[in-house]
Amino acid sequence: YAKQADGNDVCFFEPDMLAEVEQRFALEQALTQALQQQEFLLVYQPQVTEAGKVLGVEALIRWQHPERGLVSPAYFIPLAEESGQIEAIGRWVLQQACQQLQRWQQTLFADLTIAVNISVRQFYQPDFVDMVAGLLQHYRIAPGLLKLELTESLVLTDLDDAVARMQQLKALGLRFAMDDFGTGYSSLSYLSRLPFDEVKIDQHFVRECRDGHKPKDWVIVDAIIGIANTFGMELVAEGVEYKSQQQLLHASGCYCYQGYLFARPQPVTDFEHWLHQRQL
Ligand code: C2E
Ligand code: MG
Ligand code: MG
Ligand code: MG
Repeated sequence: YAKQADGNDVCFFEPDMLAEVEQRFALEQALTQALQQQEFLLVYQPQVTEAGKVLGVEALIRWQHPERGLVSPAYFIPLAEESGQIEAIGRWVLQQACQQLQRWQQTLFADLTIAVNISVRQFYQPDFVDMVAGLLQHYRIAPGLLKLELTESLVLTDLDDAVARMQQLKALGLRFAMDDFGTGYSSLSYLSRLPFDEVKIDQHFVRECRDGHKPKDWVIVDAIIGIANTFGMELVAEGVEYKSQQQLLHASGCYCYQGYLFARPQPVTDFEHWLHQRQL
């Protein structure tokens, strides 16, 4: 592996690099088993309006590894992206979400939406649109209840292709949310060129709100809110932990929130219990 071009450029394969490669390999194998062993589960976090109404939930994956314990998606999703395993995992997530929507159909929760995170590689799978269409049909999902969360990086890959795919999926009744908006590299003008139904304000901005004071870069939040309103997109602020953060967002014109202030992401029975209690 060493490169010997001019002597200064030698790259040694350090023992800790080897350990890292071995660890990755082991983790990749574990990921493959995880689906079969049913080690994944979805947890649900509500999106709540200023008036206190719960509009829907975001589904977030959890991996309960028998030895490692709970593994964060922030760690294994990027790995699954690289290895290609995200295609099978992502399909499982969508299938679970659709099944949940179907279960809620006959209940008080019939109008709740479920938002699912979609990663780049998954979105550009050749059969992605067909796969989603199949699930919608199989679980008889009413239009508008399934939402896909995409990030800026996904859109940057190929703007025209992204728009074309989004249009095909919108024709099936899906809705789209731009996730983590405002901290990436894309320009605000992308929002006007892409058929998003909703924009999620990145947690970064919300986290920086302390003691009722807005951070310097709040001007970006105001701009996002202005653009969303101009293009008729809904807004959700992520990572709202304190009432003072909700108040600042509200003052700027954002009326829907997701965060620990309302509820942590929780397994479906806990979420249902939480919502029942609220509605009493
Ligand atoms: P995300 O889509 O931006 O999800 C929001 C993250 O913020 C979640 O982390 C959630 O638990 C966390 N969060 C929610 N409210 C608060 C709060 O008030 N304070 C703080 N500090 N955090 C809050 P989580 O569940 O660890 O997921 C991390 C990321 O992993 C997600 O970010 C998403 O990009 C990815 N991810 C999760 N599930 C899936 C999945 O099923 N498929 C794909 N492709 N990606 C997923
Ligand atoms: Mg998300
Ligand atoms: Mg997010
Ligand atoms: Mg995020």
